[in-house]
Amino acid sequence: MKILVAVKRVIDANIRVRVKPDHSGVETANVKMAMNPFCEIAVEEALRIQQAGDAEEVILFSAGPQKCQETIRTGLAMGADRGLHVLTDERLEPLAIAKMIAAAAEQQGADLIILGKQSIDDDHNQTGQIVAALMRRALGSYISEIKKVAGGFAITREIDAGLEKLRITSPAVVTTDLRLNEPRYASLPNIMKAKKKPIDELSVADLGVDIGCRTEILSVVEPPARQAGVMVSDAGELVDKLKNQAKVI
Ligand code: AMP
Repeated sequence: MKILVAVKRVIDANIRVRVKPDHSGVETANVKMAMNPFCEIAVEEALRIQQAGDAEEVILFSAGPQKCQETIRTGLAMGADRGLHVLTDERLEPLAIAKMIAAAAEQQGADLIILGKQSIDDDHNQTGQIVAALMRRALGSYISEIKKVAGGFAITREIDAGLEKLRITSPAVVTTDLRLNEPRYASLPNIMKAKKKPIDELSVADLGVDIGCRTEILSVVEPPARQAGVMVSDAGELVDKLKNQAKVI
């Protein structure tokens, strides 16, 4: 079995994001970037499946500017075998990314595609679902467990009512939830080894897909600043303020 893992380069989760003065997006120049946390979980799970003897190869896919190769290297240092980078500076919306992932998975003969459930910068939570639909494949979204079984995968999904256990057919697409695993840190020897692992650079034309945008960003603005809180002396004053000032009770 071959596993393709889609990894996205995003602003590091610990960095305070700043909106550009022209409101066209957020500042990414000279900002610390990292692999999307849900994609780290995806890489970790692929490696665990491989270590259990259920996959021969783990391939990392990323689309975007040249620096995406750093993100792929991070996953190679965790233990993945090789990378695919689609070099483009275009704005990519989920449909475009999903088309590229689907085309790459087809070319590579990937039986399992693992994506993060969501990218923490754009919060789309769409790409995995679109990939599964485009490829007419079974989808396991927000998984907290996955195991290879005859003919497919046994997965667990966290839902409001508890845990939903499903069997999905192979080939399949899954998206990772937070509790699937705890991603490993890359060791120094593995970081050194990763420098020699291959990353194939592709163009959008190599995948033969149209990545034209169907959406337009009108403006990006900061959330309104929070107002200062008020100290109350006792529960009576609190109830009075909630009733007469905030009018929430
Ligand atoms: P989203 O639908 O944007 O919330 O992203 C969900 C998942 O799609 C991410 O966790 C990645 O696995 C994948 N993905 C999104 N954008 C990219 C990208 N530019 N390159 C590779 N994978 C991506």
